Amino acid sequence: MAGKIAPGKIAVVGLGPGEARFLTPQASAALEEAEALYGYMPYLERVPVREGQQRFASDNREELARAGAALAHAAAGARVAMVSGGDPGVFAMAAAVIEAIETGPAEWRALDLTIVPGITAMLAVAARAGAPLGHDFCAVSLSDNLKPWEVIETRLRLAAQAGFAMAFYNPVSKARPHQLDRAFDVLREELAGTVPVIFGRAVGRPDERMRLVPLANARGHMADMATCIIVGSPETRMVERPGLPALVYTPRRAGDA
Ligand code: SAH
Repeated sequence: MAGKIAPGKIAVVGLGPGEARFLTPQASAALEEAEALYGYMPYLERVPVREGQQRFASDNREELARAGAALAHAAAGARVAMVSGGDPGVFAMAAAVIEAIETGPAEWRALDLTIVPGITAMLAVAARAGAPLGHDFCAVSLSDNLKPWEVIETRLRLAAQAGFAMAFYNPVSKARPHQLDRAFDVLREELAGTVPVIFGRAVGRPDERMRLVPLANARGHMADMATCIIVGSPETRMVERPGLPALVYTPRRAGDA
């Protein structure tokens, strides 16, 4: 065989929003194949234990260090899987792994890297509510760990003006209890109070909870860190049904089309 021996493999695997039925067959195969699993503890706990497979759990704030450890392990010849909730490319580990490759030793660039997509939270929430992301939308992390709060406010305001529906990740934390109320205040300056707001908590898990309120009544205490919020666009509508929750949807046409 020509060329050098493959220096190990790393897969960055999306587990979906909760239960195993949301795991794709590709993700299952990548987890099955791995000799070592890396990730934040609550995500690792979702993966069935397999004999002989090592597990390295870490704190949620140590993303770059965790990525470096997993890459070093793969570079030593192991088949490694790094797990993420939802999709690994959405506010999650895929970008941290690639950042570590960008700044790390040259040999990490030669690794066999696969990003395995998963069902991201906003898609799971949207599916429960109807089709609120049926036309143009954007996704915003409300965490100001890695960007200033002013940037977040500007993005919310401009996205509302541009007519996007919006999905919010990381809506609150203990360290920033009032920012979500501030975010809703900004949106109320730009949008009608009747725009539907969907709070989807722990979607796809046994403790799932859905709540639908008009923007006028949306409050920060309605969300926690396990909640993904979808704010409709000016076109988003509700279809009432007898004895069933209303369907929230954003029509496929906008403007005069
Ligand atoms: N990579 C993940 C997102 C990580 S950021 C994904 O693609 O879904 C973490 C945020 O995701 C949480 O604060 C919450 O806003 C959202 N989230 C993750 N799982 C969720 C679930 N099951 N239900 C609702 N929101 C969820």
